[in-house]
Amino acid sequence: MAFDTDILIAGAGPAGLAAACALGAEGHRVTLVDPAPPVTGEDAPGADLRTTALLQPARALLDRAGAWDGLAAHATELWTMRIVDAAGPDPVARDFDALDISDAPFGWNLPNWLLRRELLARAEALETVTLRFDRSVASLLLREAEARVTLSDGARIAARLVLACDGKASPLRDMAGIGARSVDYGQTAIVFAVAHAAPHDNVSIEVHRAGGPFTLVPLPDRDGAHRSAVVWMDEAGAQIRRMDLDDDAFLGEAEARAAGALVPLRLVSRRAAWPIVSRLADRFTARRFVLAAEAAHAMPPIGAQGLNTSLADIALLRNLCAEGEIGSRAMLDSYQRRRWTEVAARMAGIDLLNRTSIAGGAPMQAARGWGIGLIHDIAPVRTLLMRLGLGRAA
Ligand SMILES: Cc1cc2nc3c(=O)[nH]c(=O)nc-3n(C[C@H](O)[C@H](O)[C@H](O)COP(=O)(O)OP(=O)(O)OC[C@H]3O[C@@H](n4cnc5c(N)ncnc54)[C@H](O)[C@@H]3O)c2cc1C
Repeated sequence: MAFDTDILIAGAGPAGLAAACALGAEGHRVTLVDPAPPVTGEDAPGADLRTTALLQPARALLDRAGAWDGLAAHATELWTMRIVDAAGPDPVARDFDALDISDAPFGWNLPNWLLRRELLARAEALETVTLRFDRSVASLLLREAEARVTLSDGARIAARLVLACDGKASPLRDMAGIGARSVDYGQTAIVFAVAHAAPHDNVSIEVHRAGGPFTLVPLPDRDGAHRSAVVWMDEAGAQIRRMDLDDDAFLGEAEARAAGALVPLRLVSRRAAWPIVSRLADRFTARRFVLAAEAAHAMPPIGAQGLNTSLADIALLRNLCAEGEIGSRAMLDSYQRRRWTEVAARMAGIDLLNRTSIAGGAPMQAARGWGIGLIHDIAPVRTLLMRLGLGRAA
């Protein structure tokens, strides 16, 4: 059988780009397809202003893919995670220190547009990777022996494996006949960057009240100002109203919600709104076909799990491609078995955390404050949950 490529990746978001780098760096022939080239400038129309806190296993994957060197200079280390419950009269604040479980930071925060820029540069440098932008995957024929892919320009490609990283709405998931279950939390996240007078000291701060967390994640200083990225989750109607406020009125509400953390704040970016919907595919595989990243699982942005879970999919795929025949039934069964249950369990945990964080009633708020204190103050529970949060073995 003559294959045009080993692995055809659909989607050049951060996950598809990382997969191209990780698999291409192992010597596999990779073709990466996306209807548009990645947006790689901060001020470019359509730039993704979100930031991602890459956790330790994600860094290891990118390091081995040869992509970390380009990212390291722009990454802000996260050494402490501060959880504040500001609902009651006596806010509960607890610090979770990375040094409790290892001598490395929890994670490294990077703007998504910059992640795309550096991953694209690495993919372009790999001879094994072919980039085909300005066309999409239009149809799939998945057979036992090969996958036949037709692109929107009519080109046909025979691949050992199709890797769908085509996002939450995943057209390829539908083409492969795989269903998905969604939960709409009725929340929206507003994402923006702020400057503040006090340094962040590499502490990420998550403030809970009702409606969802308000999270400040450290960014590098710029123009002499200390900066943080903010993800503010709340009920969708309230957020739509806030998106329409002028900057001063918006900042006033943001400062009130920050419960004193790093205030006063100065807005230093535009605002972007993201509806919060989780989605889990019924299966992650079909013949010669794998779902990964948000095409397989999308979750609320709590605990920096989203893209980190996606990079764990890619790390497993890289290992399976090294161990056996790419796209074989044995490989696909192994991916399904080892990934689906783990991701479903992680999403159940995030779902619980998000529902607890939304809760506005006094009993739930009291339980949340008590729970944060309890988790923190019992050292073995604290370190166990920190390890699980990092995606490492307990
Ligand atoms: C507010 C917010 C904050 C977040 N913060 C974090 C965080 O701190 N840490 C973390 O780990 N995660 C975080 N996440 C999650 C993370 O941002 C997402 O998981 C990630 O951006 C999604 O990347 P992706 O590559 O899976 O999908 P996408 O970026 O959606 O990329 C999908 C790509 O597929 C392409 N495509 C679509 N159809 C086709 C087709 N037919 N053929 C070929 N290509 C196609 C699209 O053009 C697109 O480029 C956050 C999410 C939100 C909403």
